[in-house]
Amino acid sequence: MMKRNGLRGMMSFPSESLPCTLSAWDEASASPPGSDFLAAYIHIPFCRSRCLFCPFYYGSASDLEKEEYVNALLKEIELYKASPLSDRIVNAVYFGGGSPGDLKPSQIIKLVKSLRSSLRLSNDCEITLESRLSSISDDLISAASDCGINRVSLGVQTFDTALRRSLGRSSDKTAVISALQRLLKVNQFAVVIDLLYGLPGQTMELWKEDIRIVLEELRIAGLDMYELGVHGEMPLMNAIEAGKLPSLPDKNLRYEMYKAGEDIMEQNGAVRLSIKHFSFNCRERNMYNEISNCKSDCIPFGMRAGGRLGNFAFRQVPDMKSYLDAVYAGKKPLAYAGRNPADFRFAALLAGQISRRRLIDIDEALRLAEVPCPDKIREAVKPLVAEWLENSWLLPSGNSSYRLSPYALFDHKRLAPLLFEAAASAYN
Ligand code: SF4
Repeated sequence: MMKRNGLRGMMSFPSESLPCTLSAWDEASASPPGSDFLAAYIHIPFCRSRCLFCPFYYGSASDLEKEEYVNALLKEIELYKASPLSDRIVNAVYFGGGSPGDLKPSQIIKLVKSLRSSLRLSNDCEITLESRLSSISDDLISAASDCGINRVSLGVQTFDTALRRSLGRSSDKTAVISALQRLLKVNQFAVVIDLLYGLPGQTMELWKEDIRIVLEELRIAGLDMYELGVHGEMPLMNAIEAGKLPSLPDKNLRYEMYKAGEDIMEQNGAVRLSIKHFSFNCRERNMYNEISNCKSDCIPFGMRAGGRLGNFAFRQVPDMKSYLDAVYAGKKPLAYAGRNPADFRFAALLAGQISRRRLIDIDEALRLAEVPCPDKIREAVKPLVAEWLENSWLLPSGNSSYRLSPYALFDHKRLAPLLFEAAASAYN
């Protein structure tokens, strides 16, 4: 047996590495579904230029390389037809990156057509195209509309021109707003954007102004409000260390920004679909993210894509040559396959509760996960729950459930893993 890798978190989970990735894929594909909903994730790794805070940057690509990559993706999607999974309904498709909007409109059309022919997309399948704003051309909008893409997700991060430029973004506030308005005018997509708080040099005034623009100048369907995630290898951190950028707002200010965002959304009647995500009209469902947040089944396509099927976790090969070699040899291009630990299902249910309902209900998760030793788990998490109640991070809300306080919601990426690890200790 090989070692487990990684930490239990809202987005990640450790799994036990399996020696034969393809056998694991075959076994997972033939196993009963791990969840009601199924997503497909298509990774387009390239992006024209690098934002200083981007953790997903792989590099740019020539037209020829992109053509080669899209052809290989089409082949990988075609191979899926032979999989036992191809009978399953797919509820959400997500083109993520990188920047999928950097593909040619004709390439996007080909990919969506190929997905429709090889996968059983549900009648109400959410099909999201992620893009950088500067790639939103009229041709791209027409192509996305014609092939049935029904959701466009844009990483605005901030509207403030000076802040955007300091982070390596070329387009200014006027260009961003006008690209969004062009998309909205087509009336074919749920247009959703990301805003970031906790950026270097960002003040509360700038943050509130970003939210004001969303509410007063745009009629988008959904908004994600993220805290900037930082790690040492980001170019952003080097720029701060070299004195080229101001330091990051401290944790108190970041919490105040979170709380201000939450309060303004509530005052303006936005419907909260998850901790980070708000919808402004009935067009936005946030389906793909919901599937991810609940650690439900997801088929990966493309190099570097990650996926899950029931109790298995997968990661595809990280480089172009291995990707092309595997796909043209007729194989799923997997670099990693792992088996999730016994506590995975329980933790996945908790992650779904935290993200979507903003509460924890240990008894409900124990029951739904059919945990064989519920008392042991209750005992293992009891001290943590008591501590969180004492800190008012949890607020009793009847029966066995507790609501997460605004602070716990803000800090959930740090707190949730503590809960998952405490529960896991009872399994060992
Ligand atoms: S546009 Fe998106 S993918 Fe490209 S560098 Fe910026 S954050 Fe990363």
